Amino acid sequence: MEIVNISLKGFRNLEEIQLEPVRGMNIFYGLNAQGKTNFLESLYFCATGRSMRMKIDNQLIGFQKEESHLQVKVKGNFSENRIDVHLKKDEKKGIAVNGLYIRKLGDLFGTLYTVIFSPDDLGLVKEGPTQRRRFLDMELCQLDKVYYYNLQQYYKILKQRNHLLKQIQKKPELKETLFLWDQQLVTYGKGIMTAREVFLSRLDQISHKKMEDLTGGVDSLKTIYKPNCHKNMLAEKMEKSISKDIILGSTQYGPHKDDIIFLIDDKEVKTFGSQGQQRSTALATKLAQIDLIQEETGEDPVLLLDDVFSELDETRQQFLMNSISSFQSFITCTGIEDAMKTSVNNQNLFHVVKGNIIPQK
Ligand code: ATP
Ligand code: MG
Repeated sequence: MEIVNISLKGFRNLEEIQLEPVRGMNIFYGLNAQGKTNFLESLYFCATGRSMRMKIDNQLIGFQKEESHLQVKVKGNFSENRIDVHLKKDEKKGIAVNGLYIRKLGDLFGTLYTVIFSPDDLGLVKEGPTQRRRFLDMELCQLDKVYYYNLQQYYKILKQRNHLLKQIQKKPELKETLFLWDQQLVTYGKGIMTAREVFLSRLDQISHKKMEDLTGGVDSLKTIYKPNCHKNMLAEKMEKSISKDIILGSTQYGPHKDDIIFLIDDKEVKTFGSQGQQRSTALATKLAQIDLIQEETGEDPVLLLDDVFSELDETRQQFLMNSISSFQSFITCTGIEDAMKTSVNNQNLFHVVKGNIIPQK
C-alpha cells in the first residue's frame, strides 16, 4: 500500500497541510515540538480511527479551532480508497471511506495498514502486561474484524459483570443472575484467546528469524502467549473464582489478564535481558508485524517511524533501514544530519516548522 495524497487541517498544531508523498522513504525533520509526531499521529488516526497516544479525540483538534479534517488517498494492490476524518468539538468523530460514513471502526480496518515504530516500543518488553495486550489488540483488530467484534463485546460484558459483582456485595441475592454474564464472557473470551494464540505463534516464528538475522544468530528469541488460564479452562476457573470475584468486585480470569513473554535463550528478556537485547526484541517484534500483515492481507503496510533511528546503534539502524527499504515509510528525526543520512535525495525530504511542512526541493 502507499499513501498518494495527504490533506490535513486543524489537527493539533498542524495548520493546513497538502502533501504528495513518494513511494519509498519520506523524511520529516525539525526541532522538538514542531509537529513531527502530530503528523504521524494524523496518519495513524486515518488508519485506525484512533490516536496511538491517547483516548480523547477532542484533544486532537487544534487549540482555538472548532474542528479538524484529515484526508488520505491510499493505493493498494487490490483497490484505491479515500479516507476522510472529521473531528468536531463536543461531537463524535466522523469517518468516511470513499465518501460513505462508517458506523463501526471495524469497517475502516483494512483500508490502510500501518505499522508504527516509536521509542515507546521498548515498553512492549519492559513495561507491564497492559502495553502488551494493547499491542495484541491493535494488531489483531487491523487484521481480523471478528476479533474486533469479540473484543468489544467482551469488554462491554466484563464491565457489566464487574458492576454486578460490586452490587452483589450489598445484595447477595443478585448472585443468581451472574451466570448469564459468565456464559457470554466465556464465549467471547475464548474467541479472543484463540485468535491471540494463533497470532502469537506465527509472530514467534517470524520474530525469531528477525532476531537471528539481527544478531548474526547469537540471540535466540522466543515469544510466548501467557494467559492466566487455558482457554478451555476458562468456564471452570470463572466458576471456582466467583466468591473471590465478589469480594474483590472484579473478574480474576479471562483474556483481560493475558500477557506475552519474551525469552532469549530461555531467559525472560524483561528481567534478564541487556538494554540492547531488549531493544532488539522490540525491533524484531515490530518488524515481524510487517511480514505478518503482508502474509495475511497480501498488502504492504505503510510504515510510520517516529524518531527511532537516534535510539539505535549502527547495526540496528542498518538492519532497520534494510528491512524497510521496499515499503513506503514516513520517518521523523530531529537533526538535518540524521535526515540526510536516511534521505536518498531531496525529493523525499520535508522540514517541519511550527506546524508547517515544507518540501525541500
Ligand atoms: P519532538 O521532537 O520533541 O518529539 P515533535 O515535532 O514530534 O517534537 P509534536 O509532538 O508533534 O512535536 O508536537 C508537539 C506540539 O504540539 C507541542 O508544542 C504541543 O503544544 C502541540 N500540540 C499538542 N496538541 C495540540 C493541540 N490540540 N492543538 C495545538 N497544538 C497542540
Ligand atoms: Mg515527536
